[in-house]
Amino acid sequence: MKTLFENITVITMDNDAGVIKNGCAAVDGNKIKYVGTTKPEGEFDRVINGENKALIPGLINAHTHTAMTLLRGYADDMNLQDWLYNKIFPFEDKMTPEDVRRGSEIAIDEMLAGGTTCFSDMYFFQAETGRAAIQKGIRAVLSDCVNFDGYERKVKLMEEMAEEFSGSDLITFTFSPHAIYTCSFELLEKCAAYAKEHNMPIHTHLAETRTEFSDCEIEHNMTPTAYMESAGLFENPTIAAHCVVMTDSDLEILKKHNVSVAHNPISNLKLASGIAPVPKMLDMGINVALGTDGASSNNSLDMFEEIKAAALIHKGAGLDPTAVPAETALKMATINGAKALGFDNLGMIKEGYLADLVVVDLDTPHLRPIYDPISSLVYSAKCGDVEYTMVNGNIVYER
Ligand SMILES: [Zn+2]
Repeated sequence: MKTLFENITVITMDNDAGVIKNGCAAVDGNKIKYVGTTKPEGEFDRVINGENKALIPGLINAHTHTAMTLLRGYADDMNLQDWLYNKIFPFEDKMTPEDVRRGSEIAIDEMLAGGTTCFSDMYFFQAETGRAAIQKGIRAVLSDCVNFDGYERKVKLMEEMAEEFSGSDLITFTFSPHAIYTCSFELLEKCAAYAKEHNMPIHTHLAETRTEFSDCEIEHNMTPTAYMESAGLFENPTIAAHCVVMTDSDLEILKKHNVSVAHNPISNLKLASGIAPVPKMLDMGINVALGTDGASSNNSLDMFEEIKAAALIHKGAGLDPTAVPAETALKMATINGAKALGFDNLGMIKEGYLADLVVVDLDTPHLRPIYDPISSLVYSAKCGDVEYTMVNGNIVYER
């Protein structure tokens, strides 16, 4: 399948290419074959006229729990410990593989319609999420989350999934100890060793709340970040979700081990966990990606909202309107997400990169006029402006 996008504003997110007005992008198979200003030679199966439209890299949701769409609006306006232990965990105890399949399908439909082309999931019955992802054509990074006593069973499930999805271009894996408060130190060590042996990144929750932080200091005389480091987790490429409560030396630990942060500003606001020190992380050169977290703590999987929130909250929190500029926020949702998930050919519109692309319709009153296309996308665009979503060279959503 060959597709041509022509006469379109190409937001490459590639520092060398920038924004290309009246540009073209050609896709052959699952790769981007050309990006530029002149129309490439050759026949195309499909040509999309991009007048009044922008082409952006597919958005990457670096931290979510897709099947939690079933818990959207189930428990709101509660503190995290109460929410998790009294509402979420009891509900999840009753969920079946069929429930996870349906919840994942709802999430994937929502994500594709909002320009998300790749998500990093952490949940249970993940084979069902993988099957839903393949059926709907979205890229997924899966992990059947380890907690308490579930290690052997989860390792077996991960191995079964690796076998089942070995032929798929769309599915990769991380290994996920849930958090320091749901895993023992020995379990964290086992997870670190397993990930190392099988060359898998770690995906975990880290320093989400003040309670997690102070409990860890009381029990272990260490910060959550130092505790995870001492368990050896960061010897693997790691995606750490949240990182809200961080000391300066915690940030140094993340930097030293090249840990990627999955920033979840809306979930952190809704659960009143706080605001992660993202400007500091960015200044230090820590890779910051963006996630929605589950739909029960957000309550949507809309990455356009998340990008805008990421660009806004650090301005307000730090009384600094230059904190997290629009382009930085969009990078978090594209190239930084790709890096966090271990892709070196995703997150930019560049020759040779995977063809995960989104066409945004700019011909609408709330996007008029446009002085700076990136600013318009970050501060004014809405997920409903997404007109086409392409994953791995296939158009899987049309508005
Ligand atoms: Zn989470």
